[in-house]
Order: sequence, then structure tokens, then C-alpha cells
Amino acid sequence: MLNKNRSAALFEKAKNYFPGGVNSPVRAFRSVGGIPLFLQKGKGAHIWDADGNEYIDYCGSWGPLILGHAHPAVLGKVQETMQNGTSFGAPTELENQLAELIINNHRFIEKLRFVSSGTEAVMSAIRLARGYTKRNKIVKFEGCFHGHADSVLVKAGSGLVTFGNTSSAGIPQSFVNETLVVDLDNEAAIEQVFAQHGNDIACVIIEPIPANNGLLLQRKEFLQFLRDTCTKHGALLIFDEVISGFRVGFEGAAGLYEVKPDILTFGKIIGGGFPVGMYASSKEIMSTVSPEGAVYQAGTLSGNPVAMAAGIAQLSECLKPQFYTQLEEKTKKLSEGMERVCQNKQIACRVFKIGSIFWLSFSNQEAIRKASDIKPEGIARFNSLYHQWHEQGLYFGPSGYEVGFVSSAHTQQDIEKTIQIFERVLH
Ligand SMILES: *Cc1c(COP(=O)(O)O)cnc(C)c1O
Repeated sequence: MLNKNRSAALFEKAKNYFPGGVNSPVRAFRSVGGIPLFLQKGKGAHIWDADGNEYIDYCGSWGPLILGHAHPAVLGKVQETMQNGTSFGAPTELENQLAELIINNHRFIEKLRFVSSGTEAVMSAIRLARGYTKRNKIVKFEGCFHGHADSVLVKAGSGLVTFGNTSSAGIPQSFVNETLVVDLDNEAAIEQVFAQHGNDIACVIIEPIPANNGLLLQRKEFLQFLRDTCTKHGALLIFDEVISGFRVGFEGAAGLYEVKPDILTFGKIIGGGFPVGMYASSKEIMSTVSPEGAVYQAGTLSGNPVAMAAGIAQLSECLKPQFYTQLEEKTKKLSEGMERVCQNKQIACRVFKIGSIFWLSFSNQEAIRKASDIKPEGIARFNSLYHQWHEQGLYFGPSGYEVGFVSSAHTQQDIEKTIQIFERVLH
């Protein structure tokens, strides 16, 4: 057994300071049980916990670290920038540079605004959609996660089209009444929701690659259907690309599927491991944002120079030739290796993948496109194996609903070793 004494002691202490001992709930390991690892160091694709144990990391800080930990280009740019101060609350050239880098390489972005988290990006995008359309209601999908703003912490009730129920205490029913929740992969539900509420729907928000509740890969036709329906009814389509943005290609899911949303939201990769979010749209729609327009949105640390520097360094690496194809090849090798191991052992398993995102599903289902298609037995199996992976030196997000991420720092050797460990654990 690995020695986890120091993690255990730190966790005991942390419970006195933070609810559940953590500053974001999933970190408490409630799904898999046991003690969360306190991490101390990361380099490339590897991390070390407070007891000095080493792991190959497939969590990557939940997605931001597409170059792995402590990438020299990111560290260098950050260090250089910090020498001149860390925050001004006034414009800096670095904001222009990151914006140019994005706008010049993304067909669907004309103007943008930097914020400090994915949650803030989504919250602002929804306000923008409401301000621009002068409508109130939003449509979201069961199985998509959009951060923790009030209007998106809503889950489906029963029935095809429902006013949601809150998925958190502390959210007034009056807010919830403005959020309609439908199933993914279901054109009829969208038709019905627009038939009932079409004139008051400001936007439809979706993770075009839903990756927060398993990996629920959508049909391109469904995304196109959302595009066409929104256009027909004068609603805006929001792609929440906080995970998929700069991950499945520089243009994210919008570029991959060639479906143009009205507003896009970003986070995670864009900040190179620092807290950055962004929402973006056409010049016309963005002119609704303050100080040009009437939709208010602001932030003391928005466009923070150190965070911008990290984003510039990271996205510049992503733009290098072959960056995404190499990532994808590695992910394919990993996924196919894991599937082969399971096949040999006659264990039901599929590894769903897109770009460098993968999701291990202990089931034989050919496609899983909506939340209700996920079988709890498969999740239970993942959770039961979780600590054995730790023992052997693999670190995944601590729940069977979490996807994994491959970074450019993972070596062929890391991938091969991972497949070997996977085989040993399933033995
Ligand atoms: C992570 C995530 C968010 C929330 O971003 P934070 O930076 O954690 O606030 C929102 N939407 C999606 C799709 C995400 O993956």
C-alpha cells in the first residue's frame, strides 16, 4: 500500500478550514471514497503527492493543462511578466495579444471579453443573450454542466419539456422558472419547448461536446438542428466550450462540427493553468456589452497580465503544426489499448473519445448520447477500481462520470505504462 499519511493529515486539518476539507466539492473524493491526495508537484504528465508518491496524471487540473504541468514556455512567459507587477486593473498590451491570437485563428469569433472563470463566462453569456434578445427564458440540457451560476444549476423534472428543479439549495424558484431543461439528442423535445415558449426563449446553451457527465458525444445533425431552430425563432445559440475550446482543435467543437454558435464561452485551457475565462461573439452582439451597450459586466482581475501571459504561451504552443493530430494519435493509442485489455479479459468496456478527451465506460453500449443512458453499474465499477489505479501510479478524476485528458507531455512510454497498469488492475 502507498503511504498516504501526509495527505491524510493535511486533509484532517483542511476539514477545520473548508467545508468538506476542500475548495471545490469533487476534490473531496466522495464518489470513490478514501482520502483525497494532496498534490505537491507536477512536471510534464507526472504529479507527486505530499507523501512523494508519483502518478501519471490524466486529470490535468480538469482540462486546463493541455501542455502538461510546468511547461517551460508557460513558466518562462509568466516569470518574465511578473517581474513588472502582477495586476493593474488597467488595460495592458498582453490582453490585445491574446485576443489577436484567438480572433485570427477562430472563424466564429469577432470580439470577446476576458473574465476569470468558466462560471463567470457562462453567467455573462446568458446575461448577454437575455439583454440582446430582450427575452427571459433559457434552454439547457440534462447532462450538461455550465458552472455554478444560479440559472444553470437546474436539473430536469419529469416529462419531455420541464421547468427544472434546482440542483442546489439557495436558488429561488423564480429563477428556476426561467430555465427549461430538455434531454440531449432529442429533436422532438426542442420542437416542443419552442412551440410552448418560443417567443420568450433568449438562448439555448449546450456543451457541444458534453464532457462533464461522461462523454456524451452528440450527432452533428443535432447541433445543426439547434442552430437552425434558434435562427428560426430569434433565439441565440450558446456553445459552452469551457472544456472543448482549444482542446479538440484550436476552433473547438464549433470548428470541428462546422456549426456556428452566436456566443461561445471558454475557460480552462485559455488560461494556461491560471484563472481565465472568456465569452465571445460577433461584433454586433458584443456591442450590447457595457460600456458600449446596456449589459453590465466587469471584473477587477479580468485580463490579468500574468494570466494573459500564460494563455498566450499555451495557445501559441497549440497553434504549432501537428499539435492536435499528435495529441489525438496518443489518445487513440491509449483508448484502443484499454479496450484491447478489456476485450482479452471479456470485460464490457468502451473508451469514448474525441480529440484528447477520453471517457472510460464499463459497458458495451455503442453510443451514449444522453445522461439517462449511462448505466450506474459501469460507474460503480470505475469507482471500485479507482484506488487500485492510485496504488499502481495512475491518477484519474475521482469519479466514473469524469473524463480524462491526454496532454502533449504524455510520452509513448507513459501511454504504454498506463495500459500495462490498467491490465494489472483488472486482473
Ligand atoms: C469547467 C466548466 C465550467 C465552469 O468553469 P469554472 O472555471 O470551473 O468556473 C463551465 N462549463 C463547462 C462546460 C465546464 O467544463
